[in-house]
Amino acid sequence: METLHGIPVSPGVAIGKALILHSEDSFIVSKTEIRPDEIPKEIVRFEESLTKTRSELFGIRKKIAQDIGHEHSDIFSAHLLILEDRTLIEDVFSKIKNENVPAEYAFSVVIQRYFHAFAQIDDEYLKERVADIKDVARRIMQNLRGEKKDSLMHLKDEVIVVSHDLSPSETAMMDREHVIAFATDIGGPTSHTAIMARSMEIPAVVGLDRISKEVSNGDMMIIDGNRGIVVIDPDPLTIDRYGREERRFVELVTELDKLKTLPAETLDGYKLQLVANIEFPDEIPSVIAHGAEGIGLYRSEYFYMNRTDLPLEQEQFEAYRNVAEQLAPKPVVIRTLDLGGDKFLSSLDIPQEMNPFMGWRAIRFCLARVDIFKAQLRAILRASVYGNLKLMYPMISNVVELRQANQVLEEAKKELREAKIPFDEKIQVGAMIEIPSAVLISDILAHEVEFFSIGTNDLIQYSLAVDRVNEKIAYLYEPTHPAILRLIRHTIDNAKKAKIWIGVCGEMGGDPAMALLLLGLGINQLSMSAFALPKVKRAIRAVTFKQAQEIASRALEFTTGEEIKRFAEAKLKAVTPELFEE
Ligand code: PEP
Ligand code: MG
Repeated sequence: METLHGIPVSPGVAIGKALILHSEDSFIVSKTEIRPDEIPKEIVRFEESLTKTRSELFGIRKKIAQDIGHEHSDIFSAHLLILEDRTLIEDVFSKIKNENVPAEYAFSVVIQRYFHAFAQIDDEYLKERVADIKDVARRIMQNLRGEKKDSLMHLKDEVIVVSHDLSPSETAMMDREHVIAFATDIGGPTSHTAIMARSMEIPAVVGLDRISKEVSNGDMMIIDGNRGIVVIDPDPLTIDRYGREERRFVELVTELDKLKTLPAETLDGYKLQLVANIEFPDEIPSVIAHGAEGIGLYRSEYFYMNRTDLPLEQEQFEAYRNVAEQLAPKPVVIRTLDLGGDKFLSSLDIPQEMNPFMGWRAIRFCLARVDIFKAQLRAILRASVYGNLKLMYPMISNVVELRQANQVLEEAKKELREAKIPFDEKIQVGAMIEIPSAVLISDILAHEVEFFSIGTNDLIQYSLAVDRVNEKIAYLYEPTHPAILRLIRHTIDNAKKAKIWIGVCGEMGGDPAMALLLLGLGINQLSMSAFALPKVKRAIRAVTFKQAQEIASRALEFTTGEEIKRFAEAKLKAVTPELFEE
C-alpha cells in the first residue's frame, strides 16, 4: 500500500482499478538486441500494430461521427494520415534490420526524432501537430507492447483514469458512465480539466507528480477527492474505511438534496441568486436537479473544441436556443468565446505563445476576428427570443475593448433588424471582471454594461502572478489572499454605486466558506458547478445577512490568506457543523 498526496480538485471518494491513459515517458524504451532470425517477426509485429491502430482510429472516428457529428470526427482523419507516412515506416524497418533491435525500440527512436524535428520547425501550425503525432504514436506503442487499453470513449468497466496530464478536450471525451475518478501528475485547482471533473461530479486529484509512473494498468486505487489523497494497492482495512466515507458522502448529498426547492435566503430574508456554470448543454439536467436558479456562466468555447472546423451561426443558434428553452424562464448567461490559456481549439490556426494566459485570446481574439465574433453574437441574439438569455464578454482589460465589443453587438443587432429576424431588444450585456486593471476601472466599465461577473479563477492568477494550472506554485494560489478580497470588495462597491448587479462565476463562489464572505461583501449572484449548489445554499440559509457582513469585515482585517481561510472555515463550521462531519 502506498499513499500519495496531491491537490484535491473534485470531491468524493472512488475505489477502483487504474487505467493508464498516458505517462510522460511512454516513448522511453531501453535498448535490447534481437537475433537476426527474429528480424522478420519484429517487422510483422510493427506492421500489425499499425493495422490495429488504424482500425481503432476508424472505430473512434465512426463512433464520434454517430454520437456527436461528422465535424468532430474529422480530427481523427488527420491522425490516420500519420499512419500512412512511408518515410516513418521505412525508417523503423531499417532500424530493426540494421541494428538488430526490437520494434518498440526502433519505433521509439524514430518517433522521438520526429517529435524533435517538429518542435524545431518554424511553423506554428506544424509545431502544434506534435500533439496529434504523439497521440497516434502512443497508440502504436501500446499496441506493440500489447497493453490493454481502452479509449476513454468506449469503456466497458468502471475505471480510474491515471495520466500525466489531461487536456480539457480529452476530459470532454470521457465516457461519464465508466470513468469514476481521475488522477494526474500535473495541473492546478482551477485548470479547466479540474473544473470539468467537478461538473461531471467525479472525484479527482491532480498535481501528484509521479502517479502515472507509480501505477500500472489494473492496480487497485482509492481516490480521495476531498483531501487530495491517492492510495495505491490499499489494504482491506483502508478500503473498508473509505467505503464508509463514500457512503457518508452519499448520505450528505441526499440530505442536502432536500434544500433543492428552497430559496438561497439568509435567516433574516436576504436573497441571493444561486446559479450554475456549464461547459456543455448536456449538463442541464444536473443543473436543474441541483436546484439552480439559472445558468450564470455557459463556457461557450467548448462548443468550438474537438472539431476541425468552426461552428456556423446556424449551428450555434440551435445550440443556444436549446439551452435557452430548457432553462426558460430562468436566466442563462452565455459567455462569448474565451479561447486561449489552457483551452485550445483544433479548428483555429493560432500560434503557440510564450505566455498563453496573457496572449492573443478571448475578447482580444474576437475583436481581431470580427467574422467569428459576430457570428456568435448573431446566434446568441437570435436565440434570445426563446428564453431569458444574457451575454458577457471575457477578459476585458480596458473600456475600449468593451466599447468595441458593444459596437460589434450593435452591428449584429442592426443586421438582424434589417433582415426582420427577431431578438430580445433588451438583452442584458455584462463584462467579466477577471483582470486587475478591470477591477480598478470598474467604476468606468459599469457605465457600459448591465452587470458584472467576477471571474475569480483568472483574477487570482493575474493578481497574484500565479499560473492557475501549475501545480508547483499551487500553494500561492490563494482565493483568500487579502489582495483578492480587497479587489472583490472594490468591484462590488463600484457595481452598487452604478446600480448594476454583480455575480461571481469563478470557483471561489462554490466554496461554502467563501460564499459566506462574498455574501457579506454584497454579491448578488453566485455561479458554480452544479454539484456545489446544495452546500452553498445550506451555508447561506444558516446565517443572517448581518452575520455574513461581520464575517466579511473581520476577514478583511487579517493580514494573510491562511488566517482568512481558517477564520472563514471556522465560521462556516460553527453554523453548519453537518458539512464537516468526518
Ligand atoms: C474565471 O476566470 O474565474 C472564469 C469563471 O472563467 P474561466 O475559468 O473559464 O477562465
Ligand atoms: Mg476566466
